[in-house]
Amino acid sequence: MKLFAYSKQNELQGAVADTASARTAQQGADIRYIAGGTTLIDLMKLNVETPDKLVDITGLPLDKIETTSDGGLCIGAMVRNSDLASHPYVQSHYPVLSQAILSGASAQLRNKATTGGNLLQKTRCVYYRDTAFACNKREPGSGCAAIDGDHRNLAILGTSEHCIASNPSDMNVALMALEAQIVIEGKDGKRIVPIADFYTLPGDTPHIETVLVPGDLITHVIVQGLAPGARSLYLKLRDRASYEFAVSSAAVIVEMHGDTINDARFAMGGIGTKPWRVAEAEQIIKGKRGGADGQATFKAAAARLLQGARPLKENSFKVELAKRCLVHALTTVSS
Ligand SMILES: Cc1cc2nc3c(=O)[nH]c(=O)nc-3n(C[C@H](O)[C@H](O)[C@H](O)COP(=O)(O)OP(=O)(O)OC[C@H]3O[C@@H](n4cnc5c(N)ncnc54)[C@H](O)[C@@H]3O)c2cc1C
Repeated sequence: MKLFAYSKQNELQGAVADTASARTAQQGADIRYIAGGTTLIDLMKLNVETPDKLVDITGLPLDKIETTSDGGLCIGAMVRNSDLASHPYVQSHYPVLSQAILSGASAQLRNKATTGGNLLQKTRCVYYRDTAFACNKREPGSGCAAIDGDHRNLAILGTSEHCIASNPSDMNVALMALEAQIVIEGKDGKRIVPIADFYTLPGDTPHIETVLVPGDLITHVIVQGLAPGARSLYLKLRDRASYEFAVSSAAVIVEMHGDTINDARFAMGGIGTKPWRVAEAEQIIKGKRGGADGQATFKAAAARLLQGARPLKENSFKVELAKRCLVHALTTVSS
């Protein structure tokens, strides 16, 4: 592991100022914030991340979960994944968020991992994590070993000829369906970015994953209130029952009027280079019957969401798996 400088900041402005000289790549590869460290330290040990300096933000006053006037949530970036998942208001009003977080990692990891860190966790593509292989995300211009290599777990949506790495987070799939907003403090002050605009597609710059620029600090995540009686669910399919990333997952939210779906929002994980949401797919099921009667509509919605998928040899199974995943989640939540 490369030697690095370390500082700890307990004030927001101090943390942002401490990264003022950050220059390269997203967030500044030379200066990194460190929260729970469950992603960053692993990658530093592998020499995938080689920052000159770490700014420890665990002392920032960003560890509160507060309800907002519309019945929504304002979640501090330093709130631990386990605290968010077990919060009574989250469990009662946002089961999809609690279930998504609890389906990820292990209890020990969730005790350390933070809301901000979870949003920015790195892909589990084996070639990204091994410096012996070409990876455009780790080293722009070096190539992509995954395209002709082991890509069973990688993305089928949002890929490019330069990168097919999937986004591994479960939490951000739920936050995508919940239309969360990311609050960012940067050199030029505060700004709020809808999660739909937060992640970028790889294109020919796969090393850029979000709209963050050097020195940007995520301070909060805001989730709007849901209509009374809204139902939600997170379904995660994976190779083993625990401690495994999604092969396909679905975060679904519906508002029912009797047997009819008044409103619906859903997003999928494990299949895209970012959490995947398609508004046209949601339109297909609005005003239609739910439960077992909704099968045909749910299949049409799933086909629309998967439209444009570009699977490779080893992950073509994901197209049908993802469709079934979404249909099952929508059937369950609307029954
Ligand atoms: C074995 C293992 C299994 C896992 N399984 C799953 C799983 O199934 N599902 C899943 O979703 N996740 C899984 N994870 C990932 C885990 O959820 C993440 O490692 C964790 O959420 C990252 O949070 P952290 O606070 O530790 O981030 P850190 O490691 O501290 O930081 C990660 C990145 O975010 C940046 N960062 C952190 N906070 C901020 C902030 N406030 N503002 C700006 N930048 C910031 C850091 O600079 C760094 O680049 C797994 C991890 C491991 C090690």
